[in-house]
Amino acid sequence: MKTPAWWQGLSPDEVLDSLRQRTAEIASYQNGGYRVIMFEDGTKVRIQTSQEPPLQPEQIDLKITDRCGAACPFCYEGSTPQGELADMGFVMRLLSPLKRGTEIAIGGGDVFSHPQLPALLQFAKERGILCNLTLNEAQWFSNRSRIENLSSFIYGVGYTPVSRAPGHAHNLVIHFIVGIHPPEKAIEICQEALRSNVYRALLLGYKIAGRGDAYYRRHWREIRENVRRWREMWFRLVEMGFVVAMDERAYWLLGERWKGPEVHDGEFNMYIDAVRKRYAPISGLSRMFPIGQLTVNEMFAHSRSLVISPLWRIKRVADAIYTRRCLLGSVV
Ligand code: SF4
Repeated sequence: MKTPAWWQGLSPDEVLDSLRQRTAEIASYQNGGYRVIMFEDGTKVRIQTSQEPPLQPEQIDLKITDRCGAACPFCYEGSTPQGELADMGFVMRLLSPLKRGTEIAIGGGDVFSHPQLPALLQFAKERGILCNLTLNEAQWFSNRSRIENLSSFIYGVGYTPVSRAPGHAHNLVIHFIVGIHPPEKAIEICQEALRSNVYRALLLGYKIAGRGDAYYRRHWREIRENVRRWREMWFRLVEMGFVVAMDERAYWLLGERWKGPEVHDGEFNMYIDAVRKRYAPISGLSRMFPIGQLTVNEMFAHSRSLVISPLWRIKRVADAIYTRRCLLGSVV
């Protein structure tokens, strides 16, 4: 994540005061040795107050369905029109202990294919859990009236475009896959989005998993060329005024110097596949763990212990080398 210039040189309290003048604080909670403050415009601040580890995830990437009609040939989730739906009673029991202000990113599959999505959103709202929906362009535009009706239950939207900007939207983050989306088109879409006051983007590294594995084998030249162009062009989004975040994989691919991020994916967040009842620090991993009778805090304690272990760090470096070799054609 790029730190906005206005933060630099300010104390945590000064940052919070400045944020409160810009937008409303909507939740704050103590999570082990961390204080987490959530703001209405989608900003999150985390302040370390002691050495105690976090007790629960700040954010859960929650898959509620494998069903999706888009049939993207690179889908690492392997979603299909016949995909299964998660048991929503099971999902709600899992989420019950989360503190007010915890974020969940509800994804699939096509989240609107799950008939109990509104019930989940209402359940979360009553508990102060902040729900973000992950949608592609077709899902966003074909469900505008449903989204409007559910707007009081939705904190934010992650929007993956194909050809156009989302139009006016509250707390919307545009997702681009480095390796798939042409960066020239991404810049065009972001220029259009700025006119609707949409100014956040998340860059996600291509995942060689699910259908993404076979797609990579057929199209590796195009994917590499695409990644190279992203390396040259991604900073244009920042220069345009976008706030740009990256997942760890994109960070490995786009970093000018080959070093990992300071905070690793999975240290404060986790992935739950509620359809197949399994969990992992992040999505797209070949190894996941059965949920069984575990609570969300127990799953998080386990998945975080993996992420901060030296073995995991070695695996991530190995993954970074593999990722860069596959998607960039070099490791340096
Ligand atoms: S990538 Fe997303 S939109 Fe495409 S098939 Fe998979 S779940 Fe559906």
